[in-house]
Amino acid sequence: MECIFCKIVKGEIPSKKVLENENFLAFHDINPIAPIHILIIPKEHFENFSDTPKETFAKMSDFIKAVAKELDISDYRLITNNGKNAGQEVFHLHIHMIANPGEKLKWPKLV
Ligand code: 5GP
Ligand code: ZN
Repeated sequence: MECIFCKIVKGEIPSKKVLENENFLAFHDINPIAPIHILIIPKEHFENFSDTPKETFAKMSDFIKAVAKELDISDYRLITNNGKNAGQEVFHLHIHMIANPGEKLKWPKLV
């Protein structure tokens, strides 16, 4: 069975898109934890950070900056949960882009 983010890439599940190019897609998280909470994914399916080639990350880094530009934010936090015990629930690589423009994000105690 195909993963939910692959279905979002194909348009089989709707999403609120922020930016898209040939290789990557950025869309709003369905359950935001901050005023800005975007998920940035490669269109190609990789399970997580451990599974992703560095060439993909090199390109993804430019795309992430383009997403920040599109949102007109300079300050943001990037997170990727790598594996179940790190909190990964969707096993298609995604970077969370989180921001609260004009305010300082908290850095919560996680354990
Ligand atoms: P993870 O816990 O794997 O790092 O993050 C998965 C994220 O995907 C969660 O923040 C969750 O809210 C989000 N998510 C799960 N299903 C959907 C969906 O169908 N659409 C959108 N836009 N976000 C989703
Ligand atoms: Zn997938």
